[in-house]
Amino acid sequence: MKYDFSRIKEGKTVLLVPRFSLSEKVPPKNPAFFNPSAKWNRDISMLVYKTYASSNNSRTFADSICGVGARGLRTAVEVPKIDTIYLNDLNPIAIEFAKESARLNQVEDKCTFEINHVCNFLNFEERKFRKFDVVDLDPFGSPSPYVDCVLRSVSNRGLISITATDTAVLCGVYPNVCYRKYYGFPLRTEYCNEIGIRILVSFIGLNASRFDLSIIPYFCHSNLHYMRVYLKVIFGKSLANSVSSKIGFLKHCHNCNHRKVENLRDQDLVCGICDTKCKLAGPLWIDSLFDFEFAGAMLTVLKNDEYFLSTKNEYNKLLRMMQICNSELAYPFYFETDNIASKAKKSSISLDKVITTLTENGFNASKTIMNDKGFKTNATLKEIIDLLYK
Ligand SMILES: [Zn+2]
Repeated sequence: MKYDFSRIKEGKTVLLVPRFSLSEKVPPKNPAFFNPSAKWNRDISMLVYKTYASSNNSRTFADSICGVGARGLRTAVEVPKIDTIYLNDLNPIAIEFAKESARLNQVEDKCTFEINHVCNFLNFEERKFRKFDVVDLDPFGSPSPYVDCVLRSVSNRGLISITATDTAVLCGVYPNVCYRKYYGFPLRTEYCNEIGIRILVSFIGLNASRFDLSIIPYFCHSNLHYMRVYLKVIFGKSLANSVSSKIGFLKHCHNCNHRKVENLRDQDLVCGICDTKCKLAGPLWIDSLFDFEFAGAMLTVLKNDEYFLSTKNEYNKLLRMMQICNSELAYPFYFETDNIASKAKKSSISLDKVITTLTENGFNASKTIMNDKGFKTNATLKEIIDLLYK
């Protein structure tokens, strides 16, 4: 290795990474990119891929923009059911790092390396498997330009995982850019990350339907720096026809904070509570973002997994997330305790107290993995404030 490198262990996998990627605040792109703080994101990936592979004959995995190979190599080492891994990056130095790490982990026989543009790699290369069972796309910024290529390259009933790091765009800072990239308008609200994920899923769903494909969201999550979605892709015209019933608008009243889902074809723009004209977010995905059977299976895999059980922090964090996810209500928006408190001009009430109060008064209420202080409920803002503060 002629570049300065550090040797680290992530999960059960040894990784060679450029030395400066561990010390700089923003990891440099040269000589190759590696983001150590994305470990949590990759831990979740391992849980999803293990769960997916446990119930499928999925054997091939494409890490389409692999960098130094962290996700692809961890899959090779930690998800034994997936036996063929393709790692691709345009940067030949990144591929050198990935090859060296593959040797160290003794998985080089499972791995094929390419240096190519992402779409050329996914769609036009001669290879033994024409389509991949799992395709990951983790680009710098927006995944929008590559979504077509990912959809063309995944096998029927395969899994795609896609990251968007242009969170400011999807969260409503640049609405025109969001429309141009994702065909949907965002809204700056306290639950803008959920709106952003739903715009991203709707965009992928609409693109899929062009190829007679439909999607089922298996799992989605976000933080400040990225949004990430895991979707099953199924071939079939009649399922693809149903995509329009899962896409609509979210109506949000900036006067009284009321929100309502509107379907794609007829929207009523007036707030049902205070008669103010609302703002629309969308088109966006209004169906579930989680497959509850799959999320339940993720929880089972987690509780029986040798690696995750051997960690303490990761296990507990994942357990908490998956327990919340398994009981999360499907409403496409959430409320936030601090935001409710400021609307009521009172101090904040703990999330557990809020949920108990709502439930005891006959409302549906749950936590959400989208926000540590967020909750989903069928109560209106006025009902929430009356119950909590009066
Ligand atoms: Zn209103």
